[in-house]
Formats: sequence, structure tokens, C-alpha cells
Amino acid sequence: MKITIMTLFKETMDPMLEYSIVGRAKKNNYIDIEAVDIRPFANNKHLQVDDYPYGGGAGMLMMPDPIYSCYQAIKKQSQAKTRRVIYMTPQGNVWNQQMAEEFSKEEELIILCGHYEGVDQRVIDEIVTDEVSIGDYVLTGGELAALVVADSIVRLIPGVLGKSESFEKESFSEGLLEYPQYTRPAVFLDRKVPDVLLSGNHKKIEDYRRWEAIRNTFHKRPDLLKDVQLTKEEQQLLTEYAKKHCKVKEGML
Ligand code: SAM
Repeated sequence: MKITIMTLFKETMDPMLEYSIVGRAKKNNYIDIEAVDIRPFANNKHLQVDDYPYGGGAGMLMMPDPIYSCYQAIKKQSQAKTRRVIYMTPQGNVWNQQMAEEFSKEEELIILCGHYEGVDQRVIDEIVTDEVSIGDYVLTGGELAALVVADSIVRLIPGVLGKSESFEKESFSEGLLEYPQYTRPAVFLDRKVPDVLLSGNHKKIEDYRRWEAIRNTFHKRPDLLKDVQLTKEEQQLLTEYAKKHCKVKEGML
């Protein structure tokens, strides 16, 4: 897979693409990912990339031509038969794990980062296939948002995570939040690691973790439970647990 991030602040992104799992995935050729500077594609002497909005209003807008030329150059170098072009914007669909899974199957992604007051609508209409937000708040630019999106995609590409880092049991992968995890020491400030995790009994550990994931989700994100396939036993256990520990709102379980 190839991911190209179009930005006016390439130098802020480059270091983030060299570290940890994304950096390793790039080094091991699981992913071709880079940030491309839009500014050199400006077709004016001063490499101006922003201008005042027609009709007035606060701030500056990114001009369409440099973005379009940058996009054309990226496309020209690519051998991909299909691609999706994402514009990072607070007006887009809010990013989630399902979307990360869907996009991780694409051959090529181009991500456009806006800045200032945003981007001239005409270039959005011309090249963008998907508008994506990382939450209902406004950031200064799309760079942090693009890194969030890219990171969550890259870790899903087969081979990128080693066996020990598998995403299969992570939060959202089965619709549930992950169970609580513990490492050494076995006792920390008088708090003991649950006995079952030290028992060596894999079946019991698996059952314990499944229930803890359900319990965790119930407390932190009960809205997720409506889309989770619980067994009859788990459903019963959860109803009893809820009656005992919390006031259950009607229709929650
Ligand atoms: N004027 C725009 C609006 O009201 O929709 C906001 C512009 S914002 C200051 C500048 C840029 O940051 C946007 O073009 C977008 O690329 C990025 N951005 C801001 N908030 C974002 C969010 N929640 N998710 C994704 N990108 C965001």
C-alpha cells in the first residue's frame, strides 16, 4: 500500500513517519508512506499557497492550483490502478476502527491536510473521494489528523504487527473495548495481579479476559454493546451484573 500525505508542513510530519510501528513498516517495505510538500507546486514567484476568501471573512484559504498540481504529480508517479483521496476536515465522517479496516485494503491513499481556514472548495470537488474528521473539534491543521488516520491504517496491514503485537484482541476489533492488562511486578502498591492470570490455565485466562472486556465496555462505552454478539450466557451474566452494580437505563442491554 502507498500513502502520500499532501501538506504545507512536511517537516513536522517526516519525523513521525520514521518511528515506531509506522517507521518499521516503512523500513520493512510493508508500506510506502511519505509526506509531500504542496508549496513547491505553487505557480507564482513567491510560492504563495493561500489567499483571501472571496466574499470576505476571517483568515486565509489554501489555493486550489498548488494542491491540484501536487496531486497530479503524485498520480503521475503512481502505478496504482485505484486510489482514494481523503481530505482531513472537521466536516467529514468521524474516523473509527471500521473505517480504518476498510481503508487498509486500498491500494493507494492520498491524504490532503488543510490549514488556515481550509481549502478552496473546487479542488475538494475535483479530487477528493472521502472527507474524514478525527472528532468534533477544530484543529489548526490536518497534519495531526492525517497522522492519526495513517497510523491506525498502517497497523492493520498484514505483517506490520508482529505476533506479539497482534491487533486481533485490541479495543474495537471485536466491537468490545480491550480487557485490563497487567505486567510485572505481580504486586504493585499492594495491588495484586488477578490470580487467574498467574494460573497458566489458558482457557480460564481467555474466559476471564472475554468477561473483563464485556465488563469494561459496559462501564466505559455501553453504546458499543448493542453491536456485539454476546452468547446467551454472557448476556445473562451481564444483565445480572448490571442489576447488581448499576442502574440500567431501559433498552441499554
Ligand atoms: N474553517 C474550517 C471549518 O470550519 O470547517 C476549519 C479549518 S481548520 C482551522 C484547518 C484545517 O485543519 C482543516 O482544513 C482540516 O484539514 C484540519 N482539521 C481541523 N479540524 C479537524 C478535524 N477535527 N479532523 C480532521 N481535520 C481537521
